[in-house]
Amino acid sequence: MTVGIEKRILSEKIYQKSLQVMPGGVNSPVRAFSDLNLLPMVAKSAHQDLVFDVDDNEYIDFCQSWGALILGHAHGAVVEDVIEAVHKSSSFGITTEIEAKIAEKIVQHMSSIEKIRFVCSGTEATMTALRLARGYTKKNKIVKFNGHYHGHLDALLIQAGSGVGIQGNRASSQGISEDVVKNTLCVEFNDINQVQKLFKEQGSEIAAVILEPIAGNMGVIPGTKEFLQVLREETTKVGALLIFDEVITGFRVALKGASELYGIKPDLSCLGKIIGGGFPVGAVGGKKEIMDFLAPLGDVYQAGTLSGNPVAMAAGYRTLLEIEKEGFYEELQKKIDFVMQPIQDFIKSKNINCSLNAKGSMFSLFFGIQNPQSRKDLKHVDKDLFRKFYHFLFERGVYLSPSHLETCFIGQAHTRAHLVKTRDLILEFLEEI
Ligand SMILES: *Cc1c(COP(=O)(O)O)cnc(C)c1O
Repeated sequence: MTVGIEKRILSEKIYQKSLQVMPGGVNSPVRAFSDLNLLPMVAKSAHQDLVFDVDDNEYIDFCQSWGALILGHAHGAVVEDVIEAVHKSSSFGITTEIEAKIAEKIVQHMSSIEKIRFVCSGTEATMTALRLARGYTKKNKIVKFNGHYHGHLDALLIQAGSGVGIQGNRASSQGISEDVVKNTLCVEFNDINQVQKLFKEQGSEIAAVILEPIAGNMGVIPGTKEFLQVLREETTKVGALLIFDEVITGFRVALKGASELYGIKPDLSCLGKIIGGGFPVGAVGGKKEIMDFLAPLGDVYQAGTLSGNPVAMAAGYRTLLEIEKEGFYEELQKKIDFVMQPIQDFIKSKNINCSLNAKGSMFSLFFGIQNPQSRKDLKHVDKDLFRKFYHFLFERGVYLSPSHLETCFIGQAHTRAHLVKTRDLILEFLEEI
């Protein structure tokens, strides 16, 4: 059942031990490689664009801690700043200067963010954003899009059946109460008619619309500009908030995030991943008038023992200093084009039934379907072929994000040689199907 097991003896041993003491042997489900019929990776160390497992196998890493490590693993300057910070103390539970410094930097870059609060995960960020939206608007209902992932809070772990969130919304997990489900309305992404119908019927009860402007948790599916514009208009009309979940896209698709790419200003934005430089972090930011509803100024409560943790802030701050250097995103774009363009051309010339979606340094490959725009378009995606593709690359030392619904990432640390190797392997695989 497992691939390359003869070379992964210690991985197997540690995984078996983990299974005894942790549910599924993991602390986050996708790490179990459940869909892949493959022994999960057990990592030992990593450097730049390479990750090593406990058996000393080497993989070119295109997951990059789910996009958090835009500079690659163990980046020299980040490591230095982290060591310096941790020597001063791992946590004070008191305000530190580095929090104001990184906050200032984000406010400076993201034009829709005037104030920001740091938390410890993306989940906490979206949870806080929803509470803030409800507190500010005094309304209850939240609109989300099928296939968009915003962390594991009850209110957003919900997809929909058919129908415009009127009946038949289904939680994506057991343990979520009906009361929560009924306040989350689910719509297909990029479907303007559904959104307009929903606002016509229930607009006055809607506190917020939350979305990934470029979806990254059902593969890469960018929102259309027209669609995002409609969301901006409809929310403004009824006094609901527009929340961009830029936990992946913030500082990933551009220095100023997806909001800048689309030229659309959300009321609130959620950040995470990159702004922690590989440490646990999240943040919610937006208009001053809304943010000041948060305690201690306002009556919307939010708190955290380790919020704004000085080590995470130091790693994030250094990361931002590196990526705001001239030419950073142009270099990334060159790298992604270098890999993607020949593959794109090949798919087209051979008429292969698959879709390579890329936006900025995010990419994903959908087998068996063309040009997906929403979750429902993924119904006929060929999971078996993806599994074969995954095994093919994994056995040859390329580690992709381990699910057909996850996004892969190219970062500053990817070397030309490793990009060439990966590109050629992907072409070889496509040639064979
Ligand atoms: C990863 C992710 C989250 C959740 O962040 P965690 O730090 O894992 O809680 C939220 N939204 C999006 C878009 C994400 O990709």
